[in-house]
Amino acid sequence: MARYSGSLCRLCRRENAKLFLKGDRCFTDKCAFERRPYPPGQNGRGRRKFSDYAIQLREKQKTRRIYGVLEKQFRRYFKLADNKKGITGENLLFLLEKRLDNVVFTLGFSVSRNQARQLVSHGHFLVNGHKVDIANYHVKVGDKITVKEKSKKMPAIIEAIELASKRGGLPQWLELDADKMEGIVKDEPTREDVRVSVNEQLIVELYSK
Ligand code: SF4
Repeated sequence: MARYSGSLCRLCRRENAKLFLKGDRCFTDKCAFERRPYPPGQNGRGRRKFSDYAIQLREKQKTRRIYGVLEKQFRRYFKLADNKKGITGENLLFLLEKRLDNVVFTLGFSVSRNQARQLVSHGHFLVNGHKVDIANYHVKVGDKITVKEKSKKMPAIIEAIELASKRGGLPQWLELDADKMEGIVKDEPTREDVRVSVNEQLIVELYSK
């Protein structure tokens, strides 16, 4: 299935939320959602009433877009989450959080999840000393994620590390050694560690119909 190749800012306006898909630009007044915080299209500004189904669907689409996951894969994550012990919605978010591209972004080695996905697939990261170029690789407690020696001078990664300070500190489950450009997965994520604004219960309701 083809990946979405249209305007990323349009997705934020469509979901009526900042999804932080464009890195540094998202933190400036150039952000399209800040300037036009209403859905795109002719009827974007009109008042609309949404059904429960439409609200659940939008929440699922928003979450999928934040993490850059295609529909089929998202559904697979849901099934996995549902089969695990615990709360299905939270399990789903933890699976998304533990994707390598998300971890690379959260550690500050990229300005966005999109860029993280690209950097990972171009082989710029090692997990426990081995090259891993699979963006949906799931990290485990104890894993060490390191920028490859040759990639440590890459302007994109250096700039991302500088900009990461604007995003606040790290969640408790990750630790960063900025000098070594290395992150460690210290623990399992908790619900408080999930910093994206998502109501996972709506997604559970959608898929449980
Ligand atoms: Fe969304 Fe970032 Fe574009 Fe703003 S700049 S609309 S947060 S992708």
